[in-house]
Amino acid sequence: MPLKNIALENESAAKRTVIMLFFSHKNIIIVLFGGKNMFFVLDGKKLIKRVIFFVCGIFCFLTAVNVIKPDAAAVSADTSKTAYVAIVIDDFGYDGEGTDSMIALNIPFTAAVMPFSDKSYENVSKLQSAGKEMILHMPMESLTGKREWVGEKGIFKSMSDEEIKQRVQEALAVVTPAKGINNHMGSAIMEDERCFSAVMDVAAQKGLLFIDSMTTANTVAEAVCQKKGVPLLKRDVFLDSTEDINVVKKQLLTTAEIAKEKGYALAIGHVGPEGGNITAEAIKQMAPQLEQQGIVFVTVSQLAEILSK
Ligand SMILES: [Zn+2]
Repeated sequence: MPLKNIALENESAAKRTVIMLFFSHKNIIIVLFGGKNMFFVLDGKKLIKRVIFFVCGIFCFLTAVNVIKPDAAAVSADTSKTAYVAIVIDDFGYDGEGTDSMIALNIPFTAAVMPFSDKSYENVSKLQSAGKEMILHMPMESLTGKREWVGEKGIFKSMSDEEIKQRVQEALAVVTPAKGINNHMGSAIMEDERCFSAVMDVAAQKGLLFIDSMTTANTVAEAVCQKKGVPLLKRDVFLDSTEDINVVKKQLLTTAEIAKEKGYALAIGHVGPEGGNITAEAIKQMAPQLEQQGIVFVTVSQLAEILSK
């Protein structure tokens, strides 16, 4: 039954016409009460269809005119909005779950390789053959994690500056193609100016960049990197640590949104139990869709280069 009843009156000298519109949830009926006791019932749906066709026709015509004469300003505005996404995949070095499917991804990304794990050399070699960019995933003391997760050859607060530098150089001798360094665990070192400065002395000497995983809010990375002249990139999004592929896909969408907003975004995922095949599959499925949205995938060294201009 009618939900609304609107009457419009149009009075002329000769006759009087009343237009009544009846809206119900299924139909729209327009009734015209004309002069001399005549009235017409119009099917509102047909009338609305005709109006929509007419409006669409005009819209198509205007669009066609625009296609023929493209707006130069609009084209240049699009290129200035390039949104770069750099993905770092942590924990290569022990052939963790998803290692091969991650290496097989055909988008640019950066592999962070642990230096003192049982398959470090093999993973470096595999990544090198596949033409993938690498950084050193340096194990460092954590405030909360277990010491064995860092490993005996990590960086610990008990070490002297010289010991720290030697350990980083030893690690770089394994991950020789490294373009930079990021931290595996490491919240304790990331808060310690002396220890982190020693790590960055080596980075500066070798011309490497640093990626802060942002595992602690009290990180000294910004101040130290600035002082040592080491290019610094910060993690925006963690992609995984979930069993649900839809969560990883959602995190990829979040990364893309951040990139559209500020021009770039850096996301970190993992091989092994924290991510592995789920993360690789999510990236594989989402990459074409994100590229269609204008996202450009880059390695971290490419991103640092872009940002330095
Ligand atoms: Zn790690």
